[in-house]
Amino acid sequence: MSKVYEISILGRAVWDLHSLNNEGTVGNVTEPRTVVLADGTKTDGISGEMLKHIHVAKMWELEKNKKNLCEACQVLEPTRIDRVFQKMKKDERKEYTFEKAASKAISECAICDLHGFLVQTPTGARPSTIEFGWALGIPKIYRDIHVHARHALGEKAREKGAGKEAVETTQMLYHRPTRSGMYAIVSLFQPWRIGLNNVNFEYNIEPKERKRRYELALKAYQAMFLRMDGAMTTTRLPHLEDFEGVIVVSNNNFPAPVVSPLNNGYKEKLKGIQSQIDTFEILEFNSISDFVNRINEISGRDIYSIGDSK
Ligand SMILES: [Zn+2]
Repeated sequence: MSKVYEISILGRAVWDLHSLNNEGTVGNVTEPRTVVLADGTKTDGISGEMLKHIHVAKMWELEKNKKNLCEACQVLEPTRIDRVFQKMKKDERKEYTFEKAASKAISECAICDLHGFLVQTPTGARPSTIEFGWALGIPKIYRDIHVHARHALGEKAREKGAGKEAVETTQMLYHRPTRSGMYAIVSLFQPWRIGLNNVNFEYNIEPKERKRRYELALKAYQAMFLRMDGAMTTTRLPHLEDFEGVIVVSNNNFPAPVVSPLNNGYKEKLKGIQSQIDTFEILEFNSISDFVNRINEISGRDIYSIGDSK
């Protein structure tokens, strides 16, 4: 069996009545995220930052032994390994070049390794091995604003010692958005870079640990699409109706292509590319359970290392 170089997940998810990502709240009105597509169409979006954050949280949750994470990632601190270096005494920190710092982070932490980090001193960055684009509403997305009222017994009524029968109540109105529709999803995962130091291009962890992190990341993909977390899930937990698409698996050192599922013919386009460049497989999934099966299937495969030949 050939080894997995890169994976792209390209799909369409149908979520009803969610409010996963919002622009912000002005007064008591929460505005949904609006993005503009190439043809000028305005649509709804869930940012890549939000999706990546959810993947990190799922990885953390699925990591049984939190000691496999650095001190910062054990408590889901967003600055990751940088916090560890910031806390070091100056003299101790002097010992580190960024190459050494990256090696420390990669060996100590599955999240720092896979999701990347920035270090202030010694200055440097590790790019993430997992990338997400915006989840984009495929026109048309249905939007609605629901008014949510909170009632409290009014001051005057309370002063008078009135009971429940008192009509004088105060009322706070909140305007909260919900959306329903089909969303295009693009994500890229680069297993060949797991454990690979991006300064000296050496693997800093054993093949067994690289494989373990690969499986953990794939499991986190399953967990996030089975139950999408995000904003306002307390009262607007999304209704997942459907998830279908393709998992593109590159088996050779050729980048896995990413074609947007915004385009109705994205599967055919990928098949067209495949007929010209025979370096990847296209695994279709027609339901959420299909997706779970497909991920399980590739989870059992070995992963590519620099220096491997086909
Ligand atoms: Zn970490």
